[in-house]
Amino acid sequence: RAKDMGRNTFQLFQPEMNTSVGARLSLERRLRRALRDGEFLLHYQPQVDIGTGRIVGMEALVRWHDPEVGLVPPSAFIPVAEESGLIGPLSEWVLREACRQNKAWQDEGLPPARVSVNLSARQFQQRDIAKLVMSILEETGLEPRYLELELTESTIMRNAEEAVIMLNELHALGIGLAIDDFGTGYSSLSYLKRFPVDRLKIDRSFVSDIGDSSDDETITSAIIALAHSLDLQVIAEGVETAAQLDFLKARACHEMQGYYFARPMPQDAIPQLLERDRGRKTEHADA
Ligand code: C2E
Ligand code: MG
Ligand code: MG
Ligand code: MG
Repeated sequence: RAKDMGRNTFQLFQPEMNTSVGARLSLERRLRRALRDGEFLLHYQPQVDIGTGRIVGMEALVRWHDPEVGLVPPSAFIPVAEESGLIGPLSEWVLREACRQNKAWQDEGLPPARVSVNLSARQFQQRDIAKLVMSILEETGLEPRYLELELTESTIMRNAEEAVIMLNELHALGIGLAIDDFGTGYSSLSYLKRFPVDRLKIDRSFVSDIGDSSDDETITSAIIALAHSLDLQVIAEGVETAAQLDFLKARACHEMQGYYFARPMPQDAIPQLLERDRGRKTEHADA
């Protein structure tokens, strides 16, 4: 099982290893080889409209299929990729693969949904990111409105003035922009108004404590209210229970993502989920 492999993986990549230069170099070397040999793959996790229950998007989440170890989660290699400069080629692969796959699903006649891709801080610092995104959209033929980029709050706030410029360039392409892990960094509200973002993603740490911590419930409610008043879309990540979903629904949170609906899954599992929604649509129309 992938879950068990994940646990073994964590043992192989203990934190101490990161401090050992030799170990890091060897991981770097293996990541470089992995990129060359096509050992990376994407899992997709559905994003669901809370009102209709339909899948409106899916987040692309990268994994490394290490032939010796099994499936390796991003937390075990993204930091090293960032430090080694490998994040550029890796992110480019993720972006291209997510766009290509989404277009392929649409060409198969499946109900269209957007695909969300995580952009690392390093990649966001590259001035020509908008150019890269544009050329990948052209190359794959995916309409811009079916691509969304997720940037964490801390990535954006690290250099907020520069971020305004880059976000505007990206937004001009017609793609969606979301602020990931929202609530964990500190966004100045005046900046939030100047960023051309479409969506806030409430960090999992707040959502997971709905029902346990009144502080986290207050923060979640406040983020949803903030999104409404700034006319932004809002999605909760890490929804695991019906009680959490009810809480979000009662506050008119637009979308949800989490194990309660579906775990991140291999690409082969996505078409039948999208198909199921088409059935649902027909049922509604007939009712
Ligand atoms: P993220 O962007 O905040 O992604 C959400 C993470 O939460 C995913 O972990 C997902 O599997 C997990 N998750 C979703 N629903 C639930 C839930 O209900 N309960 C729990 N406990 N967890 C849930 P994952 O796939 O391990 O990714 C971790 C992080 O790695 C991501 O956080 C993102 O920051 C980064 N990452 C993933 N793919 C990429 C990528 O292609 N590029 C970059 N730069 N970063 C990536
Ligand atoms: Mg994300
Ligand atoms: Mg997140
Ligand atoms: Mg996160």
